[in-house]
Amino acid sequence: MSSIIQLLPDHVANQIAAGEVVQRPASVVKELLENAVDAKATDIKLIIKDAGKSLVQVIDNGMGMSVTDARLCFERHATSKIRQAEDLFSLHTKGFRGEALASIAAIAHMEMKTKQDQEELGTHIVIEGSKFVSQEVAVLPKGTSFAVKNLFFNIPARRNFLKSDTVEFRHVMDEFQRVALAHPNIHFTFYHNGSEMYNLPAAGYRQRVVGIFAGKTNEKLVPVNEDTEIINVQGFVCKPEFAKKNRGEQFFFVNDRFIKSGYLHHAVMAAYDGLLKDGSQPSYFLYLQVPPNTIDINIHPTKTEIKFDDEQALYAILRASIKHSLGQFNVAPVLDFDRDANLDTPYHYKDIEAETPTIQVDGTFNPFTDDKTNQHYAKASSGSGGNFSSGSYSGYNKRVEPTASWESLYVGLETDTIESSPFTFENEEVTSSLFNDDEVEQAIHKTYQIHKKYIVSPIKSGMVIVDQKRAHERILYEQFLLNMTVNQALSQQLLFPLNLFFSSSEMKLIEELKPSLATTGFVFEEAQSDHVVISGIPVNITESEVSLVIEQLVSDLQDGIPASSYSQNDTIAKSMAKILAVKTGSYLTEKEQDNIVNGLFACKDPNISPFQKPTFITMRVEDIDKKFAL
Ligand code: ADP
Ligand code: MG
Repeated sequence: MSSIIQLLPDHVANQIAAGEVVQRPASVVKELLENAVDAKATDIKLIIKDAGKSLVQVIDNGMGMSVTDARLCFERHATSKIRQAEDLFSLHTKGFRGEALASIAAIAHMEMKTKQDQEELGTHIVIEGSKFVSQEVAVLPKGTSFAVKNLFFNIPARRNFLKSDTVEFRHVMDEFQRVALAHPNIHFTFYHNGSEMYNLPAAGYRQRVVGIFAGKTNEKLVPVNEDTEIINVQGFVCKPEFAKKNRGEQFFFVNDRFIKSGYLHHAVMAAYDGLLKDGSQPSYFLYLQVPPNTIDINIHPTKTEIKFDDEQALYAILRASIKHSLGQFNVAPVLDFDRDANLDTPYHYKDIEAETPTIQVDGTFNPFTDDKTNQHYAKASSGSGGNFSSGSYSGYNKRVEPTASWESLYVGLETDTIESSPFTFENEEVTSSLFNDDEVEQAIHKTYQIHKKYIVSPIKSGMVIVDQKRAHERILYEQFLLNMTVNQALSQQLLFPLNLFFSSSEMKLIEELKPSLATTGFVFEEAQSDHVVISGIPVNITESEVSLVIEQLVSDLQDGIPASSYSQNDTIAKSMAKILAVKTGSYLTEKEQDNIVNGLFACKDPNISPFQKPTFITMRVEDIDKKFAL
């Protein structure tokens, strides 16, 4: 039988290799930026068009290439960065595989201009799908410029696989930010479709972080510094109160290379133990330097994972140094052993404005009934917003902190909602001596809040148990949607316009959402590259909620803005409902409970929350009877 194995022609091999190196425009951005850094440039410009789909250009003032190298750099495994396998253990460059340029040239139209400092003239090469189209001598400034056009022009399937410009732009932005953060000593500029996204002069780490994330970042940062034999840690973590909902701004750099590490992330989170609201994420920018021979970066070219020799020690050092910084800057108690958790103010209380104290008079208090029944009443009224002491009730109404005291009465009740009903019976007895039954029914028996989570209300056939959060989400969602579709949302004018700062990728999203947001009642005065000025807000939100709402929206929409305005409105309404709805764990006054129950049943679709979860259940008297019959 004849032999059938052949060596693949280079351009085919390159195209296959390209699949691994180049997944999207952002991959090209990463490779070109890293090459410019490796070439010791002090000034790097990134210019892209259509999120990089039609053009990615990187211009540097680095060392440039000789005529021979200019031709050779497009060959596979052509690199100036390592010569032998041992070099892998003392790497000081980003690249080392010599694959990137060959891969990119295989699947795009590429133009390169390069000149070394000491040379008079430079080289200008055009290459398309691995084929050299032209090579000329040219008058050029020192450095190198690569322009990559029409990415995937010869692989339509790949081209079609690209996401919307918004999504691809975000990936480019991520790569740009990673390289720019890793190298604050380099001046970076970034243009998209002709407008300047960033102009970051050479600076220190802090200025670079602030330059990229703009606005108020500076005051949120706490420096971290630790120098040990096996690792040097520098950088910043953010104060716990500025932790965000999403994991957007979390960066590790190891020897100036961006990496991802679930393990090190865990170390950071461990340092914040007890300081964060549930599920919130601190921003961090941590620069680790380790001896190059203690890490293995010889991994897949596009992956950002890394292997360390002594992970456990790094974990401990990182955790301790961050904990120390948080403590030193007074954002965390330094000595936290034996600390009574009850003494801590829950984080969310800090953000809530202090309310004017109101005097609560227990109208139903009857000094002539015995203590036992009063205690029962105290329990019931606590549940509906009042704060009457239960344990030390002695004839006077004492205000008690809303801490464990009354909640502890519920410990052991677990979730069985029906078991709280004995209060109602005892209540009736106490109050019947002062009020006639009808009034009691009106004033007290309409709704009860239990476990700061459900609202229970008697109905004809039995009772209804409403999930307060989901119900409120449904109400708000329908309100917002209605306002947006009929386009007549009321707006409250702010006395002082609000300046809200965002990163430029967030600003881009906001820019696209502006028309839809305006229909909810937001009034935007102006939008700059890093902030918006808001002079009016929807009537149903407060000034302090504005930044939360917009932050949530941006994070909900980061995977792309829906194309139709209908689904855009829908997403905005959902997002706003989610953030503004009362949360599980919030006390509700009777009035608030009433409003939620009534509001829910006035909805078009009261059965489910905007996120497709049931909003209430009913329990018929027969069902309750059955339980008692056991
Ligand atoms: P690698 O970076 O892994 O070496 P690349 O394919 O990215 O592989 O680049 C091949 C070679 O081309 C590099 O090793 C370097 O010598 C040269 N080169 C690439 N980009 C530049 C640049 N911007 N300035 C100077 N030389 C460059
Ligand atoms: Mg490279």
